[in-house]
Amino acid sequence: MDIATEPSFRQSVDLMFNRAAALLDLPPGLEEKIRVCNATYIVRFGVRLRGRMHTFVGYRSVHSEHKEPVKGGIRFAPVVNQDEVEALAALMTYKCALVEAPFGGSKGGLCIDPRAYDEHELEQITRRFAYELIKRDLINPSQNVPAPDMGTGEREMAWMADQYARMHTTDINAVACVTGKPLEMGGIKGRVEATGRGIQYALQEFFRHPEDVAIARLSGTLEGKRIVVQGLGNVGFHAAHFLSTEDGASIVGIIERDGALWNPKGMNVQCVRDWIVETGGVRGCPEGEFIADGASVLEAECDILIPAALEGVINMGNAHAIRAPLIIEAANGPITAGADEILCKRGIVIIPDLYANAGGVTVSYFEWVKNLTHMRFGRLQRRQEEARHALLISELERLSADRGWQLSPDFKDRYLRGAGELELVRSGLDDTMRSAYQSMREVWHGRRDVHDLRVAAYLVAIERVARSYRSKGL
Ligand code: NAD
Repeated sequence: MDIATEPSFRQSVDLMFNRAAALLDLPPGLEEKIRVCNATYIVRFGVRLRGRMHTFVGYRSVHSEHKEPVKGGIRFAPVVNQDEVEALAALMTYKCALVEAPFGGSKGGLCIDPRAYDEHELEQITRRFAYELIKRDLINPSQNVPAPDMGTGEREMAWMADQYARMHTTDINAVACVTGKPLEMGGIKGRVEATGRGIQYALQEFFRHPEDVAIARLSGTLEGKRIVVQGLGNVGFHAAHFLSTEDGASIVGIIERDGALWNPKGMNVQCVRDWIVETGGVRGCPEGEFIADGASVLEAECDILIPAALEGVINMGNAHAIRAPLIIEAANGPITAGADEILCKRGIVIIPDLYANAGGVTVSYFEWVKNLTHMRFGRLQRRQEEARHALLISELERLSADRGWQLSPDFKDRYLRGAGELELVRSGLDDTMRSAYQSMREVWHGRRDVHDLRVAAYLVAIERVARSYRSKGL
């Protein structure tokens, strides 16, 4: 493959699928059934804004319905196209299978630069787009459940949920039609941070295995590791913030639209984020030295590279120059299939997107279940759990009183506190990221014909999807 023949995003995903599928003994025809995207709906609709009609183009792709509902975010970006949405929908199928979220894969997008419209205009556009999807059951709690992605967040999800409720006034589960909603609209604690938190848990799990760390030519823990992150949006910000404030890693490079910041001593991620929110970019931020050619910082020397912005940023044009020994794909598809081959040959370890950024869909799954049960997690058991802990503490205190032993107040406080929704969500997410890593790792180390985590992840996912089709008799 040379640069001129670099495949499209969807072809890249298919190539990665093919590499893994070639190692499986699937019945004839099933491989293709799993790979192809079942359907893509394209909608063109008009909205009257600023005194004239504006036409918008939107997409919703359903990759696989081996489990329903299908699930996947909706992104708002000027470059959204069918190829991209189908690639992202396919990734969702494999991602859900890998983390055992009981969904098929889907994805949506609207060609729009959200920064070009005010809030009221965006609401009109979003509601109209949602209307088009809802009337075709492409938003529906039991069939197709969107979530936020690039350019969308809680606000857009709230508009979509409200639009669905208006059109289905007697559906008792209406609120489960999208996830990533604000708390007061049926959202769940920990969803906004979930994908970034998942990146942190994925890296923590990776560093629990010294043999894996050694393959990446690294050693020790996350403490002091130099990290470069591209894209300080929802995913990139939370990942970089948690890794620096909770794991002792050092964020030495931050790449944004207008350029990059570099500081070998590490940056305060919250300060950089505040600067971006205030000024629209990183230029002039005192946390680091400004570098106008932001993309060049992808090639900087560091321990861990976290591309968390958009697809195809590491391609056959720069794969030879990447110096990070470990890359974790926070964005979807940041490494093209061609670049993947080059990086793997160079011994660079890649923690693949379908695993790394699955934190979002995992917590979306928890939110959907919460919506269907109509009760927040922990509501029934929290006080009962606290009462049992209090009983144990009072017995311990009685027994140790004669010996003059005392429990430390910090231990008592922490032990007595029952788990609320946020603690339960984080625990469920951590468990999911650990188990999914274990399942990839078993294949990575257990099969002689598997040399990287991406092929391992695809193998686990494809086998699970195939099993699901087979059990339906297909
Ligand atoms: P976002 O819109 O919140 O953030 C994207 C960030 O990237 C923004 O800060 C933007 O300014 C920056 N950016 C855009 N173009 C850039 C460029 N050329 N160079 C450097 N920075 C650039 O989006 P997000 O929700 O954080 O999503 C980022 C990636 O993570 C996407 O690939 C998305 O599909 C993936 N993802 C998101 C979620 C989620 O829960 N939000 C879940 C899974 C995967």
